[in-house]
Amino acid sequence: MRTLRTIAEVRAAVREARAAGKTVGLVPTMGAFHAGHVPLMREARANDSFVVVSLFVNPTQFGPSEDLSAYPRDEARDAALAEAEGVDVLFAPDPAEIYPDGFATTIHIDGVTAVLDGAARGAFHFDGVATVVAKLFGIVAPDAAYFGQKDAQQILVIRRLVRDLNIDVRIVACPIVREADGLAMSSRNVYLDPDARRQATALNRALDAAAAVAYAGERDAVAIVAAARAVLDDAGIAPEYLELRSADDLTPVATLETEALLAVAARVGSARLIDNHLLHGTDTRASA
Ligand code: AMP
Repeated sequence: MRTLRTIAEVRAAVREARAAGKTVGLVPTMGAFHAGHVPLMREARANDSFVVVSLFVNPTQFGPSEDLSAYPRDEARDAALAEAEGVDVLFAPDPAEIYPDGFATTIHIDGVTAVLDGAARGAFHFDGVATVVAKLFGIVAPDAAYFGQKDAQQILVIRRLVRDLNIDVRIVACPIVREADGLAMSSRNVYLDPDARRQATALNRALDAAAAVAYAGERDAVAIVAAARAVLDDAGIAPEYLELRSADDLTPVATLETEALLAVAARVGSARLIDNHLLHGTDTRASA
């Protein structure tokens, strides 16, 4: 595996791989790898013969009061993990390589960005995500790009981006990876002290409780969300949002019919955590 810092080096490596008849898979990340990142690399490795993992803590998707400077960073450990997963290139640029002096373009996507994390964090967040991912697609020109369902809204934003800008890349969604007690893996879990770590399990338990009532036949969104809210209340967690929305376009759902996303964000201790479950209205099966 090679760690590359410049766009020119990545382009040359990708050109060489393509000349050898390889397909290119991209896994965009902010590093601080955990077991939730690994399936994305494995899926890319399984589908594509040349795998690029980007490691870039993208400043433009963090607000002024967010955790950009505190965000966990350990490039040496990340590189060892990526190498063990058979990654070909770790692209770890400096911010100035991505945002040189004079950089003046921001991609803003309407609709799916206006709710959930877009509303709670502010429009800058998905503007930053869409802009940096569009740049990575422009730099790597991958055949496929791999994202985690943990950031379900992010996947919808990226799907909108590639449709609207005619970017020729297949978007692959990978399931949420959880700790043994159900907490969704996140680089931000390192912020949790032991009490907060215990409290954080309520997020997935709340989503499970909602899935259970849906599984039992409940179709009313208010009742489904209430089942989740009761668990959060019990745990002393006041969510930033807890909402049932269309899994296709995040419009509000009043009655669970087809597939809906139950999404939650909450501050637990000093971490801001998100989680979600997909609920299926048609077949009374509920799953994460
Ligand atoms: P991050 O480094 O947190 O920006 O995440 C990089 C990619 O890994 C994103 O596509 C995330 O959705 C995905 N990811 C992070 N945590 C998990 C998880 N627990 N399960 C599945 N995918 C994840």
